[in-house]
Amino acid sequence: MTRNCPECGEKIVGREDKKFCSDACRNAWNNKINKDSNNFMRNINNRLRKNNRILSELNIEGKTKTTKSKLMSKGFDFEYFTNQLHTKTGNTYFFVYEQGYMPLENDYYILVRKDIS
Ligand SMILES: [Zn+2]
Repeated sequence: MTRNCPECGEKIVGREDKKFCSDACRNAWNNKINKDSNNFMRNINNRLRKNNRILSELNIEGKTKTTKSKLMSKGFDFEYFTNQLHTKTGNTYFFVYEQGYMPLENDYYILVRKDIS
């Protein structure tokens, strides 16, 4: 069975479990994989940071109300949050780091801030 190097396509000569033709190709391959996952993580982190900034800007007092359209007009992305908090009363807060929000009726949102001091 001939195997080919996934990085350069060259035929691999040598041991059965050898996956790359050379160390250089193995390193190049691994660097690319790491770069992709780093880009992926960077994009998510940027989204989270942006969401956090939007909530911080709207929630000066530490607790306030806003609307869905106001959040969306600032580019808030509801898909990205860091954790959820389920209260005893059955409500769910979504947090983006220390900034939290919970949907209310009629597209209103309550904004809260975790005490991180
Ligand atoms: Zn190669």
